[in-house]
Amino acid sequence: MSSQSIIEWGCLTEQQQIDALLRPAMKDSVILRDTVTKILSRVRENKDAAVFEYTKQFDGAELRELRLDPTIIEQAERKIKAKVRIAIDKAYANIKIFHEAQIPQDIRIETTPGVLCEQRHTALEKVGLYIPGGSAPLPSTVLMLGVSAQVAGCELPILCTPPSPQGTIAPEICYAAKLCGIKHIYLCGGAQAIAAMAFGTESIPKVDKIFGPGNSFVTEAKQQVSQVVSGAAIDMPAGPSEVLVIADANANAGFVAADLLSQAEHGADSQAVLVSNDRTLIVKVQQQISLQLAQLSRRDIATKAVDNSRYILTDSIEECVLVSNAYAPEHLIVQTDNARDLLATLKHAGSIFVGAYSPESAGDYASGTNHVLPTYGYARNYSSLGLLDFMRRYTVQELSREGLENIGDAIMDLADAEGLDAHRNAVKIRLTGLELPSMPL
Ligand code: NAD
Repeated sequence: MSSQSIIEWGCLTEQQQIDALLRPAMKDSVILRDTVTKILSRVRENKDAAVFEYTKQFDGAELRELRLDPTIIEQAERKIKAKVRIAIDKAYANIKIFHEAQIPQDIRIETTPGVLCEQRHTALEKVGLYIPGGSAPLPSTVLMLGVSAQVAGCELPILCTPPSPQGTIAPEICYAAKLCGIKHIYLCGGAQAIAAMAFGTESIPKVDKIFGPGNSFVTEAKQQVSQVVSGAAIDMPAGPSEVLVIADANANAGFVAADLLSQAEHGADSQAVLVSNDRTLIVKVQQQISLQLAQLSRRDIATKAVDNSRYILTDSIEECVLVSNAYAPEHLIVQTDNARDLLATLKHAGSIFVGAYSPESAGDYASGTNHVLPTYGYARNYSSLGLLDFMRRYTVQELSREGLENIGDAIMDLADAEGLDAHRNAVKIRLTGLELPSMPL
């Protein structure tokens, strides 16, 4: 990261500015699409049998049951270190407080005398939570998805995660799931897990909506099942994780470097962007990155992410804001004097971390905000995950005779204008009756 050159924003043409903010290309190969399409159709056809087969092929686990024995969830607490349990408890409590505060108010209003309109909210019944496998257990992602489903009141939250070759999963995942009231954990991952949740199998119930991050097979499978009528809705499109830091001359270079590196260690395709109006600060951050990188256990991964990083020098903090709004980062960290004052102008970001003591890690784990966020520029038109994603809103209306009389003419005139006679008649028959030819005897 430290070897990257500094981009002087004001010297770039419009096209060069666009190029400077391009994300690394997402994998979108025909091979990936075809592989996933095949997995989806085999799971639709052969259900559990196909899931068992793929779990053996991709995860090396030969399972007898796809559902994890619920007693393992119940007893997981005993298998984790006390300090990890306490940390999970703390994170759970904060996430719950923040998501409970998002419970929406229903609306009930008379728009015209006798015309009552309501907007109500209801929880999605069945939700599928995908928790990626790989080397690290991800209890934090279980909490982000599980607490939201729990607070929303989803009747059946189920969780899928790929097992180890021994057919096990991390007890931290089970413990976090237990806190969230999740009793159904299925040992499968990848596209086959997404297919199973979208279409249902003998063991795995079909769900209404699928949530959670994953690798390119998971992401492609989510996109494909969301296009099928009998499939499932999905939370949001996803790409590699990213952070943009806005920092001024007074920012702490060590703090900024640590934030950029905490993004870089997520994965080789992660992107970290520093935007500053101060060249000296950028150079200091680069020096700090070299020092801190050497200490990281995941330095090999973080070093690869270095190639995707950017250091952008602007003429002013206002220009830093313009760059950030153009990039629309998943995570945006603001380490400037009076950072809060910039909030009103920062329009496109998944989650914003204000001031020197708000690292991205806080939102990743324990502040209470949700860490499932729009990446890849989708912060321009998608929201960060929240309680409402686990609910749906619908409307109710009730008209008295007086109410129908009050708006009847407007309805009939509009129906006439649109040439929809039956619509007009549905009002007329109630208010004045219809003149109909007599029935033949
Ligand atoms: P994963 O659970 O996303 O994928 C594992 C599955 O991929 C396997 O079970 C297998 O079914 C499938 N797979 C692997 N190779 C395949 C192949 N050749 N053909 C078909 N299917 C194949 O776990 P992962 O691979 O470790 O990836 C984790 C992902 O989650 C990363 O992309 C990482 O960036 C992301 N992640 C996100 C967060 C977050 O936002 N909370 C946190 C950590 C990781």
